[in-house]
Amino acid sequence: MVEQLPRVELRHGDGRRLLVYGEYDGSALAVEGAAGEWPALHLRRNPLTGAFVAVSPARNTRPQTAGAGGQPTAACPLCVGGPELPFPYEAAVFDNRFPTLLAEPPEPPDGVAGESAPALGACEVVLYTPTHTGSLATLTVQELARVIAIWTDRSEELCADPRFPYVLVFENRGEDVGATLSHPHGQIYALGHLPPFVLPRLAAIDDHRLLIDTCLSCEVVTSDLAAPERQVVANDSFTVAVPFAPDWPLEIHVRAKRHGARRLPDLTADERRDLAAALRAVVHRYDALYNAPVAYLMVCQQAPDRPLDGRPVDDWHLSFEFLPPNRSPHKLKVRASVETAAGLFINDTLPETTAGLLAAAVDDDGLPDDPAFPDVEVVVVPTGVPAANIAVPRPT
Ligand SMILES: [Zn+2]
Ligand SMILES: [Zn+2]
Repeated sequence: MVEQLPRVELRHGDGRRLLVYGEYDGSALAVEGAAGEWPALHLRRNPLTGAFVAVSPARNTRPQTAGAGGQPTAACPLCVGGPELPFPYEAAVFDNRFPTLLAEPPEPPDGVAGESAPALGACEVVLYTPTHTGSLATLTVQELARVIAIWTDRSEELCADPRFPYVLVFENRGEDVGATLSHPHGQIYALGHLPPFVLPRLAAIDDHRLLIDTCLSCEVVTSDLAAPERQVVANDSFTVAVPFAPDWPLEIHVRAKRHGARRLPDLTADERRDLAAALRAVVHRYDALYNAPVAYLMVCQQAPDRPLDGRPVDDWHLSFEFLPPNRSPHKLKVRASVETAAGLFINDTLPETTAGLLAAAVDDDGLPDDPAFPDVEVVVVPTGVPAANIAVPRPT
């Protein structure tokens, strides 16, 4: 059964967009509000590397409530009744109040000596649930299906914008990776340029196609499947494995097996269900391994646009890559001098051993693999439709 998820678009008083997914009671947002002012927001190019640095000094004033941990607090801006969602909601996306990039960025400040550019892009926050605590492992099947539908909806819109060749869906979880809010949420950045870590992947994929005429990503999938000692959990549509050469000790990659599954909107209904199962299985293990949630970065690598013709890269397979900083229960791996300056990561563990520990960390995954896992399709509600006329079909 396809469940339709309505999407209603609203505007905060400061001009930021708010997308409400699911039930919406018709409440209005405050009309008044100071428009965001980001006079110093811009990009500067490092002449020695060619890479851009985003300069965003106003972000230093962000709120910090991650320490609250368990209970909802008045300080949580993501809970129902907070400044971002003053009314009840099920899931939502809004423009970040503290953006690094803007769809209509200001010009770089006058007097900057050196190459600079407007900070073009988009920074969105994705609210998974109105419940203050939890993780991708504890969301209900319904909530998890909705989150994947929302990621897909946003990716479709942002990837279709020719100004944004690269769209990154991600989640920073835990204070150890600098998350400032503990409420379950993720983010999406759309970039106006291809970032430095993507360029070598593109080059490797292109070189492989040129020299051997096969898909490099398909070969990574094949090699992960041929190494059961690195697999964390079995899945029909995705490999879930510690990669052959992980930078981080507890790193796990979830990679689409099917050639052609390059971005979230490419996935079939079965693949979305399998993705939910894979993500849940990984986070479940990070929650169980040390009997306390392990912090992580989760990055969704979707096919970027080719630099010249703007088409998505054919030989790219969608992947969700989890990068936790821990190397043991109480020790964090620090990205120290050699990693940062030379790009040579030193992994203090044997990947095959770590994979075995992660695979065994959970007996029962509680996978959402039953036929009731809903296939959720986002339906955009035209602006001006009264809330009473927005139907939210529910599974019976
Ligand atoms: Zn909250
Ligand atoms: Zn392939």
